[in-house]
Amino acid sequence: MEYDVIIGLEIHAELKTKSKMFCECDNNPEGKKPNENTCPICLGHPGCLPIPNKQAIEWTVLTGLALHCKVNKLSKFDRKNYFYHDLPKAYQISQYDLPFVYDGYMQVDDTRVAITRIHLEEDTGKNTHPAGKNYSLIDFNRSSTPLMEMVTEPTIKSAEQAKKFCQQYQQILRYLDISNADMEKGEMRCEANISVQEKGKWEYLGNCEIKPIGDYKLSPKVEVKNINSFKAVEKAINFEIKRQIEALEDGEKLVQETRGWDENKAVTVSQRTKETSADYRYFPEPDIPPIKFEASEIEAIKAKLTEMPPEKKVRFIEQYDFDADTAEILVADKQIANFAENTISELRAWIDSNGDDWERQKKKLAKTASNWLTSELFKYIKADGMEVIKKITPENFAELITLIYQGKINSSAGQTVLEKMATDGGDPSNIVEELGLEQIDDEAELEKTIQNILDQNASQVEEYKSGKENVIQFFVGQTMSATKGKANPKKVIEILKKLLS
Ligand code: ZN
Ligand code: MN
Repeated sequence: MEYDVIIGLEIHAELKTKSKMFCECDNNPEGKKPNENTCPICLGHPGCLPIPNKQAIEWTVLTGLALHCKVNKLSKFDRKNYFYHDLPKAYQISQYDLPFVYDGYMQVDDTRVAITRIHLEEDTGKNTHPAGKNYSLIDFNRSSTPLMEMVTEPTIKSAEQAKKFCQQYQQILRYLDISNADMEKGEMRCEANISVQEKGKWEYLGNCEIKPIGDYKLSPKVEVKNINSFKAVEKAINFEIKRQIEALEDGEKLVQETRGWDENKAVTVSQRTKETSADYRYFPEPDIPPIKFEASEIEAIKAKLTEMPPEKKVRFIEQYDFDADTAEILVADKQIANFAENTISELRAWIDSNGDDWERQKKKLAKTASNWLTSELFKYIKADGMEVIKKITPENFAELITLIYQGKINSSAGQTVLEKMATDGGDPSNIVEELGLEQIDDEAELEKTIQNILDQNASQVEEYKSGKENVIQFFVGQTMSATKGKANPKKVIEILKKLLS
């Protein structure tokens, strides 16, 4: 039997507003004792009235606009009723039929993944279950943190695509600077709805609806929760696809249910059979009036929107001739993307001031720059954190690229210069002078040095002549160490070949 895989995602993200969703409590849990950030409103005391957080609402609209969504001019909050010990009101204020934004998409490689809606709700408290104890602990600091929920259409076709969607969504939240979206800290939480259907037996109607064709009976969808990393997104979905196909092949009956991903065992485990929305008895939140947007208010939010990673990637490829992988790496973080772009614009200014043609030079120059960005600069970012790019600066980094590009220094000298830039900062030309790193291009001088080395290593010369041509690397190494790494490597090889033949 052949199967189609149907995947939809729900991603919750905690917004980093100053105060909580419906009260004035501090929304920063960092360094706080349990239950310190609480008040009668977020503890669900009877008779308290919630006041919606304007910033959280604006950020939800902003996220929607970044993802090409439409904005509901009239929106409202609803009560989602369920009793959990970490939800003292016994209901969650959420949004049901009128989310702030709806009907958008995100470009993932060459696919547009449709976004159904993004709504706003409040987070619950946090349970901990101490090992070996007969009690659980609840911390309400997280209770009523603004929680933005994004729902995709079930049109994602593979675990890999789902993972990439989650990664790009995190990048967007960070670009917008509205959530730290750290999955390990639970600031961003992904849930996946997965079903497998027999090929050709179903059709997609839009609006999250799948319809069976003829008398085919749809296989139920399974919701997987507890996914705490991007890797787990991929692993959990692949596990579930395999589990469901095997069950169908064995003639087992699948049920609609919620399963949890167990990272240690790398399996999904049934948690509960799935509620339907009727179980939550949604009704309009009577304590909060509906929220209306004027066109001018939406325009004002739109004005705050900057270019998002998927669009930036396309532009980087078109404008700078970067290959797709390089562009993707560079746009993943806003600060790095800005650094790369400022570097390129410095390089362009340099080309212009030399009277050269940028369009003709850019491919090669951008290639050199992107190689140095993604390999060498990233090493320092990894080791020293993002702060290091402030020390290096795009102006100085671009100058380093021009020195390498012109052959004034070789790449090993370039590494030495960058190391100094990363520790002490400074102008690369000055560093080159200070450390005497200027490349040795003078052929007569190089030939003299190399002849000396050949004279001192007669047995290796014999080896080379008897056909062991890779001995040449030994001579290159000797030459480099004799010149303290400053010899022009291309010329060294040329001269070696000439003298050895
Ligand atoms: Zn509070
Ligand atoms: Mn939710």
